[in-house]
Amino acid sequence: MKRAAIYARVSTLHQSETSIEVQFAACEKFCAEQGFEIVAKFFDKQTGKASDRMGLQKVLDMGRRHKIDAIVVDKYDRFYRDSIEDQIATRELEKHGVLVLSASERIDPKTATGRFSRNIISAVNQYIRENIREEVMRKTDQVAKKGYWLGGLPPFGYNLKEIKDPEAQRKRKVLVINEQEAPIVRMIFEMYASGHSYSEILDKLNTMGVKTRRGNPWSKNSLYELFRREEYAGVYTYKVGTKHSSHFHRDDTIRIDGAVPPIVSKEVFDKVRARYGKRIRKQQREYILRGIIFCGDCGAPMNGNSGLYECSRWRRRRDVPYVGISQHRVEKDALDYAEKLIDEMNDTDFDVLAKQLNAEMAKQDEMRQKKILELMQEKNQVEKEIENVVDAITKGVLVERLQQKAQKLDEKLKKIEESLKTLSQNIDYVNADELKKFWGELKEKLKENKREVLLALIEKIVVYPGGKAVIIPRH
Ligand SMILES: [Zn+2]
Repeated sequence: MKRAAIYARVSTLHQSETSIEVQFAACEKFCAEQGFEIVAKFFDKQTGKASDRMGLQKVLDMGRRHKIDAIVVDKYDRFYRDSIEDQIATRELEKHGVLVLSASERIDPKTATGRFSRNIISAVNQYIRENIREEVMRKTDQVAKKGYWLGGLPPFGYNLKEIKDPEAQRKRKVLVINEQEAPIVRMIFEMYASGHSYSEILDKLNTMGVKTRRGNPWSKNSLYELFRREEYAGVYTYKVGTKHSSHFHRDDTIRIDGAVPPIVSKEVFDKVRARYGKRIRKQQREYILRGIIFCGDCGAPMNGNSGLYECSRWRRRRDVPYVGISQHRVEKDALDYAEKLIDEMNDTDFDVLAKQLNAEMAKQDEMRQKKILELMQEKNQVEKEIENVVDAITKGVLVERLQQKAQKLDEKLKKIEESLKTLSQNIDYVNADELKKFWGELKEKLKENKREVLLALIEKIVVYPGGKAVIIPRH
């Protein structure tokens, strides 16, 4: 008997999502149909922010240790959240002989078509999710453009004040000067502008007994934080980058001059910026091929290291020959390849692609419709029985037993309704135009998010001793 582990996931951000219980139920039913023995069940509840997805880690681990033959999910997007990263995990599992199966999207991953449609489904799912995320971002941008504070704690020197947003009929927050803290901010800026060192400023603050907003002693980091805030010069900013990447330029940063009451003058602020700007660190290298680049000699993944991708086994153990390649060269090859591939796709391809996908989905849809009809009939039946029982109860017949029966029927009805709810989620057919649009945007994305596109198009890159790289496309 094949052993299966069930995996379910909900995100607390999407209340319309199928519950863990319903996902489990669909998977259990699928396992029963397929004759799988369920050896474990895992789930993750996500809050929207990045999480380590413990449930997923556990299920992947079971796969790697050959404790299971299949992972069953309700829908593939439960498993592929960031699509590509997760697909890497799937392919690793497949190498261990573990299949990822979906209870509601019946695709046979053992066939090339199956794998192909699954990849497209997850790519399209991700695409849709991203559009939703963009929509949310667009809405918050609108609020930010009116100068309302969207961050957490106000910067040192300011308080938050609630005011009414007449357009949205709700309260929003704006920054107002904190009269106790503002003179300290002014002092810090002026000291730094007139050439004092960080330690001199910190000494002074400590002598004065001033603490940060979180009640800690001041540190160099808290000074950096202070100096990077344009709010002190009266400029409202939104999306200047995280603390980690605060020095990096972003195209979508919102800046409104004069939307915040200033604490320091522009002259002082600019002087500080000029001095502080000299400290800006160099951007860290990002190795965009991590996870898909492998050593052709021993098969180990290659890791990025000072401008090179090198065999990780060689780095760790030195028991295999050295294999390495210039980061610039191999990444350029991969990007050229991706660009060529995107260019090569033409209209006919999309038509064929859409037809194949839709045929696959139509098959599922037919099964689904049949099941819905069956369930509707069953539902009618149960409802009639409930009516009869209720009738009998009101007539005063054998109340206790009938009540038990009524309760059982009610439970049955609820289960049917849940299944119906799951089944009535529409299958999203794709059309050639959508796919074409998707592909068109892929090229745009290649400029901004190279890694994501490369992972979508390239199965892996194998580097052989001497530095020859072979790109293997996804099937
Ligand atoms: Zn190697």
